[in-house]
Amino acid sequence: MSNLLVKKIERLAEDKRQLRFMEVCGTHTVSIFRAGIRQILPSNVELVSGPGCPVCVTNDEYVDKAIAYAQMDDVIIATFGDMLKVPGTKTNLAEISAVGADVRIIYSPLDCIKIAAENPNKRVIFLAVGFETTAPTTAATILTAKSQGVHNLFFLSAMKLVPPALKMLLNDSAVRVDGFLLPGHVAVVIGVNAFKFLKLPSVVAGFEAEEILMALINLLTQIDEDRAEVDNEYKSVVKVEGNVTAKKILSTVFEEVTTEWRGIGEIPLSGLKIRDEFADFDIEKILPVEVEKVQRKTACRCGEVLRGIVTPKDCPLFKKVCNPLHAVGPCMVSVEGICAAWHRFS
Ligand code: SF4
Repeated sequence: MSNLLVKKIERLAEDKRQLRFMEVCGTHTVSIFRAGIRQILPSNVELVSGPGCPVCVTNDEYVDKAIAYAQMDDVIIATFGDMLKVPGTKTNLAEISAVGADVRIIYSPLDCIKIAAENPNKRVIFLAVGFETTAPTTAATILTAKSQGVHNLFFLSAMKLVPPALKMLLNDSAVRVDGFLLPGHVAVVIGVNAFKFLKLPSVVAGFEAEEILMALINLLTQIDEDRAEVDNEYKSVVKVEGNVTAKKILSTVFEEVTTEWRGIGEIPLSGLKIRDEFADFDIEKILPVEVEKVQRKTACRCGEVLRGIVTPKDCPLFKKVCNPLHAVGPCMVSVEGICAAWHRFS
């Protein structure tokens, strides 16, 4: 890691009050740990993690619905691997797969087209969980399936949008943040302008250690100069307007809806729902299932962890009964979950 950059951070932080910056991307969380960035920061500069892992914010009801579909005859569930152990109210996809449900791990939603073609007498349901980063590929898969007349591929959408979550954090009096390290991958799609509503110093950042340090220097410089702007320190990849084609595909297939984030609650217009024109691919329209809404009693503090109010170490279950092999809450499940990152690196 560049000593020059570290020294510059130290100089800029001198004589400043206690400052807290939040990264809102699971990949940043892991990069920060891997590079040991927390350890080299001055004591008055603190990094906290926000709701940057889509798996972690997917609620019990969604997981219970996925399980209900998986338990039906002639259904194949296609999912990214990190959804397997996300807890529902009673069980998870890994456990029901072990007793016979057909749950397949895929690496791109487009893989589902092939699975559907190979299994014409079965319903293939893709668990569409992700942020703006993966949503365009899901939208493109729906467009492809429609153009090819695929009749047995469906989607259960829990896709979410990052800017509404940031708005929620700004309005949450329990959240104290002095600036945001904005997610580079999401910004590639939606562009820098999509974050202009933020009235705090904010920087779109890359994922290498030096890029994160540059972003921190930018945040400290803004505070030094009493500015609160949205800057781009990932210009090689992120454009002001984002990826216009990806945004168009996204808005062709999906519309924004109010949706619930696990541990946080409902956030207005923060979810992506399949538009009526593509209802033939929406499993909730074709084959609705009802699941009981159950409030699980657990000491899990994911909701506060995801808002940067506490760290995983403040959770009484951390490393005691909650670990990656036995995850009590979703923040311990995904490799990009905050608790999983703390477990691995701290
Ligand atoms: S350590 Fe486990 S139980 Fe505690 S907040 Fe994290 S995921 Fe929840």
